[in-house]
Amino acid sequence: MAKQLIVDLHIHSHFSRATSPNLTLEHIYTACKTKGINIVATGDFTHPAWFKELSSKLVPTEQGLYALRNASQLDSAVPLSCRDNLVRFIYSVEISTIYTRHGKVRKVHTVVVVSDHTKAQKLNAILQKRGNLAADGRPILGMDTEELLKIVLSVDENALIIPAHIWTPWFGVFGSKSGFNSLEEAFGTYARYIYAVESGLDSDPFMNQHKADLGNRTIISTSDAHSAQKLAREATILQCSLRYRDLAEAIKTGDSRFVGTIEFFPAAGKYHLDGHRGCNVKLHFQQTKRIGGICPVCKKPLTLGVLYRINELEKGSVTDFSKSIEYIVPLADIFRDIHAVKSASSVSVVKDTGKAIEILGSEFNILRHVPTSHIRKAGFEELAQAIENMRSGKVVIDPGYDGVFGNVSLFNPSGALPQANQLHIF
Ligand SMILES: [Zn+2]
Ligand SMILES: [Zn+2]
Repeated sequence: MAKQLIVDLHIHSHFSRATSPNLTLEHIYTACKTKGINIVATGDFTHPAWFKELSSKLVPTEQGLYALRNASQLDSAVPLSCRDNLVRFIYSVEISTIYTRHGKVRKVHTVVVVSDHTKAQKLNAILQKRGNLAADGRPILGMDTEELLKIVLSVDENALIIPAHIWTPWFGVFGSKSGFNSLEEAFGTYARYIYAVESGLDSDPFMNQHKADLGNRTIISTSDAHSAQKLAREATILQCSLRYRDLAEAIKTGDSRFVGTIEFFPAAGKYHLDGHRGCNVKLHFQQTKRIGGICPVCKKPLTLGVLYRINELEKGSVTDFSKSIEYIVPLADIFRDIHAVKSASSVSVVKDTGKAIEILGSEFNILRHVPTSHIRKAGFEELAQAIENMRSGKVVIDPGYDGVFGNVSLFNPSGALPQANQLHIF
């Protein structure tokens, strides 16, 4: 039987707006090694400078997959415990389309994964006539997403076209600000070519399966990383051969090769609940409905979050959900909690994260597989306790809203919400 592969189909390079300069191929490679990601998106392949770099630094290995040239030179910086982890790249980009459809302005983000370097090159040649691809690693195109889909399929019939973070208010295909109510409304008859959607940080596959037109589609998770540290905060688990075609089929069919997803706790996503950040107002969707969606402080419409939209849109019948879902908290965030510091990049957190990986293996290995008795034996008592709570879902979540991330507390499993929360929760 094929080995499980951890796949991340949506990340960004340093050429995308608001991303870290550490999103270079070299940093992405070493981060994937130490986090335990096997197949990672190139991200941003439509950007001319990034594509040039991809063309010179990536070498073809298995069908549609690529290795970093000279990767072995980087391995001396990778802990021994992670050196055997296989890392491959796959051509992928997120495209932002802004257009008018059915009389409303729409803003939609879509992940496009193509079969190989040649297909990426062909797609770039067409899209460069339609917008300034050099302006942003995540290009903004003034075209209907349905048209984008047609162009992509005309270049590569095996491409994957995956609506990104589908529920986020801005740029989600079902978002409250500029999205649609169904995939049919967004893509017309071409909706049948949408085989998979990305649940985003604020929702999980359980929440998504209730939506009528998602019942027969695969729900994937990706990191959508804007820095190397954020790689692996969500991912997809496949059990298939190392070939693009097999990977794409696994995602299109959602058959037994699609094992499941690794999830951020959705309530901690930054658009989970409704509210106004500036007014310190945070509401559950039922409360928002009761007050007519208007902010009690500033009297303007509230930013409606993911939970609101999921409950607002048409529900389908739920069949048995057979895929695995694992909820995780990134290792650095666990150590941030242990050390009671604000930043996951503080010295003590970085040091302990590195030490744990050196002794116990990759981040995903620690979070998902290493028995907590081993973690204890290695001298990480608090980490073992946190991981026990995380794996059994004994967490307290202060939910996210209106662009503010929530907080997952792993050490207060039966307690009340953290005292630091001074917001009005209506
Ligand atoms: Zn996006
Ligand atoms: Zn307000």
